Amino acid sequence: MDLQHWLGRATEAVQEWADGYGPYRPHPALHVDDTRFAAAFEELTGRLTDNYPFFHPRYAGQMLKPPHPAAVVGYLTAMLINPNNHALDGGPATAAMEREAVAQLAAMFGYDTHLGHLTTSGTIANLEALFVARELHPGRGVAYSADAHYTHGRMCHVLGMKGYPIPTDDRGRISLDALEDVLRTGEVGTVVLTAGTTGLGAVDPIHTALALRERHGVRLHVDAAYGGFFTLLAGADGPEGLPAEPWRAIAHCDSVVIDPHKHGLQPYGCGAVLFRDPEVGRFYLHDSPYTYFTSPDLHLGEISLECSRAGASAAALWLTLRLLPPTPDGLGHVLAAGRRAALRWADLITASEVLELYQWPELDIVGYFPLLEPATLSAVDAASASALADGMTGADPVFLSTLRADREAFTARHPKITADADGARILRSVLMKPESEHHVEDLHGRVEQLARPH
Ligand SMILES: *Cc1c(COP(=O)(O)O)cnc(C)c1O
Repeated sequence: MDLQHWLGRATEAVQEWADGYGPYRPHPALHVDDTRFAAAFEELTGRLTDNYPFFHPRYAGQMLKPPHPAAVVGYLTAMLINPNNHALDGGPATAAMEREAVAQLAAMFGYDTHLGHLTTSGTIANLEALFVARELHPGRGVAYSADAHYTHGRMCHVLGMKGYPIPTDDRGRISLDALEDVLRTGEVGTVVLTAGTTGLGAVDPIHTALALRERHGVRLHVDAAYGGFFTLLAGADGPEGLPAEPWRAIAHCDSVVIDPHKHGLQPYGCGAVLFRDPEVGRFYLHDSPYTYFTSPDLHLGEISLECSRAGASAAALWLTLRLLPPTPDGLGHVLAAGRRAALRWADLITASEVLELYQWPELDIVGYFPLLEPATLSAVDAASASALADGMTGADPVFLSTLRADREAFTARHPKITADADGARILRSVLMKPESEHHVEDLHGRVEQLARPH
């Protein structure tokens, strides 16, 4: 699709709609002349050039990439009208699109019933899930793995709940033995399982954890903000296929969060929370004097903690999912390419004499570090940091990220390392662009150069 053409059509289509309401006089207070605009716009585009090239396969760092052109056109078209999905009157079409898109996400996870909505982010989506969990288990805390997203601890603090970080195993997954020890105290009412940790993409054993719900009377929430769309590769043939059990088990958990602004090709401002039991809607007290209720249908604002939200986010997601549905043959192909890229790179690193794999990639995140002699944590830390910095300069730049691994986590995976510090930074690449698949050899060659002693 030709982005420029469709951006032009977007403005035309909205203008045609607006013209139906007849002419009106634009107010001079809002007037900006073209020359002044051009100067300010030059300044804007100039200032934006300091961004790393998130779109390019030579960017293999954090979870960052531009949205799909369909999402851009969907967002911009709706934004020209600027509907607010808080209430049906604020954006009837985009509220309906939000429901449809959320139902597609629920179906992807195998939820046969659901209540859910989009949010501004994964953090807010998790906050809502924990808020509902608190209402159902007042006075009890929340357990999550030590490698879970840092905002769980923060949101427990916000909600006045006690957080219980649980140790992880040597692949970064929650230790169910350690978890059960904590659950036996009866102090925990909710367990957060992570389907794809943000650091290394580790998938907690959700299927095994299901039994804990009855045994200890806890709620199970899945944080699949990053990993959620990988459920499309569960049980798939080919090297990119994933073990199906943890992903299928999500259908039996009480709530799940997914971030379409990560692997769902959306611009920022698009998270989602889904509850399996629609009855939890009763916890959202709603008593707004500002909202006009012209319809007996549920307003999305009645079931979300946030008030105003961009209807444009729903339009962008809806349009994208029309074209690349959340099915193995739709969006699944996009995730498969990134996953194959990660596997290919892991093979190259395994065979390398200058790089070592930190752990085998479970999804599309590769963790690795320069292979050194003698191997100490402090030397790995320094070498990773300089590879990161050196990579970004020069004629053939490559953009990586670092991840701090603490001493216990590092030595659990690499017992031979001399632990002369309390941790080390390693290099980390999220291969979330399908284009990475065709660029792995180049990336690897460049990173080997950076890691070679010099
Ligand atoms: C990114 C992420 C979050 C936070 O989501 P935001 O959209 O950045 O607020 C929470 N949990 C996991 C596992 C994540 O990867």
